[in-house]
Amino acid sequence: MSRRSSSSLLRVAVFAALLAAPLAAPLAALLAAPLAAQAPVPPALVPVLQQLERDNAWTVEQQVSICEVPAPPFKEQARAAEFKRRLEALGFAGARVDAVGNVIAERPGAVARPVTILSAHLDTVFPEGTDVTVRKVGGELHGPGIGDDCRGLAALLAVARVFEQHKVRTAGPIVFVGTVGEEGPGNLRGVRHLVTKEYAGRVDHFISVDGAGIGITSRAVGSHRYTVRFKGPGGHSYGAFGMPNPIHAAGRAIAKLADLKVPASPRTTFNVGVVGGGTSVNSIAMEGSFELDMRSESAEALQALDQQARAAIEAALGEERARWPESRKALDVVMDTIGIRPADARQADTMPIVRAALAAARAVGKPVARTSASSTDANVPLALGIPAITVGGGGTGSGAHGSEERYEDGPDGHKGPQFVALLVAQLAGLRR
Ligand SMILES: [Zn+2]
Repeated sequence: MSRRSSSSLLRVAVFAALLAAPLAAPLAALLAAPLAAQAPVPPALVPVLQQLERDNAWTVEQQVSICEVPAPPFKEQARAAEFKRRLEALGFAGARVDAVGNVIAERPGAVARPVTILSAHLDTVFPEGTDVTVRKVGGELHGPGIGDDCRGLAALLAVARVFEQHKVRTAGPIVFVGTVGEEGPGNLRGVRHLVTKEYAGRVDHFISVDGAGIGITSRAVGSHRYTVRFKGPGGHSYGAFGMPNPIHAAGRAIAKLADLKVPASPRTTFNVGVVGGGTSVNSIAMEGSFELDMRSESAEALQALDQQARAAIEAALGEERARWPESRKALDVVMDTIGIRPADARQADTMPIVRAALAAARAVGKPVARTSASSTDANVPLALGIPAITVGGGGTGSGAHGSEERYEDGPDGHKGPQFVALLVAQLAGLRR
């Protein structure tokens, strides 16, 4: 709490006032029963949840068919157009694509605030040309992105549809958003544009439905990602021997990075995930490069790791230069930023948005024992002091970011959209 800005405290106060208002009575009732194994469902939502269970096959069909529209990084347009078309078909005539490619459909409330954003991400990690056919194998669905995040997109469509069918009324608007750029290279550009431009200063709650399960991610893992390039003139491996070697320098740097010490708590990690450079076995390369990913729940720990990594890379440069004191050939290093995601902005489990999510999970009979930390679209609003969480869309998933990604709806798949529907209705202020 100590690191939260005064404006976020004000926002918390506003939310607390909303909780106290009569229109939010069902949420108050939910929050008043934290020890109950199964929190009560507001009566107005009982038929809504029943409908979601009956329509489960429709939800899964949406998940499969939207997933068969490719959405590589920076090329989400086709899937965005399809997602917009589906929202329009559900009654959201005003659905639109914003300047960076997010799909936005606003469902008005009785009043202008609170604004609750319910989002899922359109993009995948898979490059253009990937076979995105979804295969049914026993009770499982196999396909790139089937859980991450076609499940989230399907949950959004299911909630949008059932709220229209049952004319669910809320105090504040619910904004359904399919975001672009959630995965690595996108660097959260979609959500950043959404909360700093489209809805600047007027987001009261942000929910991202990302992947399967009914987990609750309430804290942001930050990441610093770089491409590190050692560069020199290069030359013949025999004839030009005796000059600094960019690949050897990269090797020295990687060896130093591999030995860095990081705290186990707050969890802090590093990884060299890609190496590159060189043209042939008998050439001193002109470049030796690698891609480095560093993450932490703590901004301070991440900054400390960043400094250690930079020092290690500088030391490797110095050692490779010093290895060939006679040489006049240059060796340099440059670090290009792939992405910086904000860490920290710790959100305690006692915050209303987290308590509402915990209560919603209990209400569908899927209590969540422990909230988690991750790197998701919620990082950006969290860093701005906006209450934000990432939740799962139900079912079970495995193998995210791999070509063998799997999703199993099982007997409880419908509980994901039910959980999301309860949560968003409570945050938006359910009216009967
Ligand atoms: Zn995801």
